[in-house]
Amino acid sequence: MKTDFTELEKIIQDILAVPEYRDHPASKALKQLWEINQDQWHRMDRLTRLSDSYQDMMIQRERSLSERFDKHLRQLEKMTRISDRYQRSLRQLNIELEKTSLIDPLTELPNRRMIMKRLSQAFESQQEKHQQGDQVANLVVAMIDIDYFKKVNDEFGHQVGDDVLIALGQLMEKTVEGLGIIGRWGGEEFLVILPSHTSAHALALMERLRSNVSSYSFDAENKTIQTSVSVGIASYQAEDSMDTLLSRADNALYLAKSDGRNSVILG
Ligand code: GH3
Ligand code: MG
Ligand code: MG
Repeated sequence: MKTDFTELEKIIQDILAVPEYRDHPASKALKQLWEINQDQWHRMDRLTRLSDSYQDMMIQRERSLSERFDKHLRQLEKMTRISDRYQRSLRQLNIELEKTSLIDPLTELPNRRMIMKRLSQAFESQQEKHQQGDQVANLVVAMIDIDYFKKVNDEFGHQVGDDVLIALGQLMEKTVEGLGIIGRWGGEEFLVILPSHTSAHALALMERLRSNVSSYSFDAENKTIQTSVSVGIASYQAEDSMDTLLSRADNALYLAKSDGRNSVILG
């Protein structure tokens, strides 16, 4: 049976309030029990309040810990995002740096550094091929120099000279496209690498390049600029080093110049 304490309290208080019962021993005992009970109630109440405030404190503490944890997590995520972004931009910067260190900014062709890299790779595979006895198609290099280019600058100015260099670079690149690579060797000189060509094919290709340049005219200030190129070709030979191969091409170029320019010579 469930005890209704409110009802019981009321009954006890009613009994204790009756004046005739006041001196009765049962009433005195009941009064003492009542006071003990009240005292215990107060203690329990204090304990309950203490436990409640302890629980509140713990909840508060947990909440603040979790808030601090969330805050740190957000900071960590932010830092990770920043670091990712930083790494991405570093990678991009590296790609751009790599590109600018290998590409000639004016003509956008491979620069001398890149062309030397490619030549060195082509040279190594040529040597392997040579050891295997394949000597029909060889590594061929062609040194190209624009004829009387100083005159273009003197007559039309350096800016027009730049534009002519860009246009000729594109024209020559188109001619060798798919067969080899062309790069700016320096100034108004270019180098073509043909990784696997017979001398006859290389000669024919460079002859086509020379002809394309000489029939090309560049319009500037209502005048047309005609140019031509001289080309020296060298094909790989046994015992060649990169230097000897390049200097044979250079000598052939010198001969092409002496020959009256606008010509191609196989050294
Ligand atoms: P040659 O037929 O003997 O080669 O005569 P050339 O006038 O072409 O030869 P030279 O070496 O005397 O002159 C080359 C000129 O190319 C001189 C230089 O001012 C010009 N040149 C080199 N680089 C550039 C460039 O980036 N832009 C311009 N506009 N001119 C350049
Ligand atoms: Mg020159
Ligand atoms: Mg020149």
